[in-house]
Parts: sequence; C-alpha cells; structure tokens
Amino acid sequence: MKKSLKILITASEMSPYAKVGGLGDVSASLSAALQKLGHDVRVVIPRYRCIDLQKCTARIALKSMGVWMGDRQEWCMVYQTMSGGKVPVYFVEHSLFFDRDGLYHDQNMHDYDDNPLRFAFFSRAALQLCKDIGFKPDVVHCNDWQTALVSAYLKVWHWNDPLLGSAASLLTIHNAAYQGIYPKSNYDYIGLGWQNFTENIFESYDKVNFLKGGIHFADMVTAVSPAFANEIRGPGGGFGLAPYLNDKGEKVRGILNGIDYEEWNPQTDTFLPVNYSANELEGKKKCKRHLQKLFCLKKDPKVALIGTVGRFVHQKGFHLVRNIIEGVLDNMHVQFVILGSGESDLQEFFHHLPARYSGKAGSYIGFDNERAHLIEAGCDFFLMPSLFEPCGLNQMYSLRYGTLPIVRATGGLDDTVENYNEYTGSGNGFKFGESSESALYYTIGWAVSTYYDRPEHIKKMILDGMKRDFSWETSAKKYVDAYRAAIENKKEIDSYKPYYR
Ligand code: ADP
Repeated sequence: MKKSLKILITASEMSPYAKVGGLGDVSASLSAALQKLGHDVRVVIPRYRCIDLQKCTARIALKSMGVWMGDRQEWCMVYQTMSGGKVPVYFVEHSLFFDRDGLYHDQNMHDYDDNPLRFAFFSRAALQLCKDIGFKPDVVHCNDWQTALVSAYLKVWHWNDPLLGSAASLLTIHNAAYQGIYPKSNYDYIGLGWQNFTENIFESYDKVNFLKGGIHFADMVTAVSPAFANEIRGPGGGFGLAPYLNDKGEKVRGILNGIDYEEWNPQTDTFLPVNYSANELEGKKKCKRHLQKLFCLKKDPKVALIGTVGRFVHQKGFHLVRNIIEGVLDNMHVQFVILGSGESDLQEFFHHLPARYSGKAGSYIGFDNERAHLIEAGCDFFLMPSLFEPCGLNQMYSLRYGTLPIVRATGGLDDTVENYNEYTGSGNGFKFGESSESALYYTIGWAVSTYYDRPEHIKKMILDGMKRDFSWETSAKKYVDAYRAAIENKKEIDSYKPYYR
C-alpha cells in the first residue's frame, strides 16, 4: 500500500470562512475528501475581516510569526480551527493586509492596489507556518495567482531546508484569465531575485506575472478540467500562457472538480417541495409545477421548460442568450426562467423580459440559492452557452437533477456533457461548438424538437445523466495521483535544475 501523504493546501478562499467563487468550494471539499482517503491535509488562508474567529472557535496557533519579504521582516499571528470538525485550517492574520471588507477588491469593485504585496506575503507566510509548527509537507498545493508564488519560494528559498526542501508543489489553475499582473515596482518586496525576472519566468511586458512565474516553478500544474487543460495549451490559449504551459510538457494535466453531493442531491434537497430520484421521477413533475408558479408561468406540465442561472458576465455567453431569446419564445413552444446578476444592461433586459412574454418567461435578478436549486430540479433543460468554462458546476448539478444541459462544448462543459446521438438515443445533453447566436438558437431548437418528438430518448438521457459520478472522492483520488507525480517530478527536476538564488 502506498504511504499516505502530508499535504498543505494554500488558498485565498475556503468555504464557509471566506468565499467569492468556486475556489472556496474546492479547498473545502477537496481537503475533506483527501482526509477521508486517509491523508494528513491542512489548509491555510488569510484571516480576512469576514472571518469571525469566535464563531469558528479558532484558537491561537502562533502568537507571532516573522516572515521575510525581500530585505524586511513582516510580523503576523496565526489562528487555527478545524473545518467541519476534522481538517486543520490556519488563518494568517496581518491586519494591515487583510482586515478589510473585500477579499480582493473594495465595494466599487476596484482591486486593492497592494494585492501583489498581500498575496506574496501570504504565500511566504504559508511556508513559514510549516516551519514554525513543525509540519513537513510532502506536497504543497497552490491555487491560482494568489498562491502561485509558493512554488517559487519553495525552489528559491527553501530548496535546502530540512523541513521544506523535499516538498513538491502542485499549482492548480482555476481561471487562467486572472494571472496577477502588476507593476515591477512590487518585485523587490516579493523577494525572488531579479535573475528570475525574465521573459520565461516572471516578466510579462515589463510587469510581474504571478501565475506565469508559479507555472515555471511548480512541479506539477493542473487545470480544473481535462478539456480546459488542453484549451489553455492550444494555439493562442491560456490568455498568453500557452507557450509556458507547453514548456512543461507532461507536467500539466486536467482534473475535473467534484460537486457537493450533500447540498446537491434531489433525494434530500430541502429547498424542493418534493424530493425525487432516478427510480421515482414523479417528484420532478411537482418541482416543475412549483417552479412555474414561482415565476408566474402558465401551469403546463407538458411544455418544454428551459432554465439558466449564473453571473451576467461576458464569459457566460448571456449576451448570446439576450440576442436569441425573443426568437426562441416567438417561434418555439417553450418557457424560460432566468436567475442571475451582473452587467447592468443584461440585468435590465432580463428583468423586463417577463412583461413582454407573460406566462412564457420568468426572471429573478439577484443571487438566490433556493431559486437556483428549484431551477435545477424543475426545468427540463439547463442552458450554459459559455464562451469559456474552466470547469462549471451548474451542468453537473443539472445532470444530477435529471435536467438536460444545453451547452457550448468548451472546458468542463465539454468533459461532462455527452452529446445526444439521435440514432441510438445515447448521450445526456445537447452541445454546440461555435460561439454564435445561430448555433445557440438551432441547438435549443434541436433539444426542444427532441423533447416533443422523441420522449423515449429524453427519458433515457435523463437516466444516463443522473447516474454519472461527479463526487469529490473521485476527483480527490486524481489529485492524489497528481501529488505523487509532482513528488516524482521534483526528484527529476532537482537532479538537473540549477537553483535560482
Ligand atoms: P462560476 O464559478 O464561473 O460563477 P460555476 O458554474 O462554476 O460558475 O458556479 C457558479 C455557482 O454559483 C453555481 O453553484 C450557481 O448555481 C451559483 N450561482 C451563480 N449565480 C447565481 C445566482 N444568481 N443565484 C444563485 N446561485 C447562483
């Protein structure tokens, strides 16, 4: 049997303590799943203002910890709690950097100017923490640009350290569009040496690029789905990072995120008026009725009901939906529900749509978890026309809830949805490739005509989707394989790479 691993996850978010996006869910769910597999896993995040130490019964782990940044030392405090009672979680407290309302930006969505200093400090502090508490990780898992520098600090500063010298690093890219690119005036503070401020390591158009440097130093890089891992290495992919990812050869792979099986389970979901399962789908019809009532739609059990939930941003393709939805509502026998918030012109448009299509279209502008659950359960189809989608969660929820996804074949959407084959009836959703209005319009038409003309295929697809495995246990096993590969890669790199001091 292979030995269990000591793993440190460094992240800028962890649910439920501090979460802005999917990273918060990943660090929470992955750490719990790794622990269930028998590994010694710990998580470290910054202590933001929103973290109530009393509420999460955190105790002081280190009263004072000194962290060297460039030629100066910062001082901080560290608290510790147990997530869900099991995984040790450390909060690094540095009031000047983290005692603020937002994680990354202020209320006006203006990024904090000192973000490079904040997250460089946090990355270095995460490693200092290991030294001060005597934790000897086999692997350190860094996430996105915020903790990408951890992999660099390990190689530049700790390569010969008795505690950290043998630790491998794995860097996960959750969204390559955010790379942490800042003026080079921050580079002295970061303290990684100007010899590493080169075009193939940290330098990007005379600025410092955290993610790019992290990729260079990491012993293994993962992206949050196999298709996204391929896309970011393709020509012009990775928002400029493709050449650097390709330089790493086999040291890049994709691992799909899991979904929270406790929260997203139609058999136990407490937001639903009636629960249901693949063996007993009657409850889904009641959820549809409930959803139609909630969104003031005509109560018609037979009409094809299409739903969508998400952030109204360019990435998610809502501008395409806006341009075709009236055509769909005019020409097809369907109903539409939309839940989301974001760009003001899209909010405005979807807010006013139901007034023009009374009984056919419903919308709710805002963030509402209960409505999101009801849409997943009550709809026949779930629409995700994203321009790019590193992993995506909603399509996995839909499959689990027997709601067929209509998606653009990109990133995690392409990996998780199997396209319908009308000759055999196989598949579990409808996919289109081109990011265009006509491709979206005709794929909706294809799904809707299948719904009315081949109900036996629709039933087969629903059952296929509901039995797919999107558990975190499966993903965590793949991460363990990747950690072990990172450890092997490090041995190989150590045998020939010069050190970077
Ligand atoms: P991303 O992380 O890029 O926003 P994902 O599909 O990976 O996209 O995850 C989005 C998550 O946020 C899903 O759980 C989705 O249901 C939820 N969500 C997004 N917008 C809303 C909203 N307006 N109301 C409720 N939940 C939402």
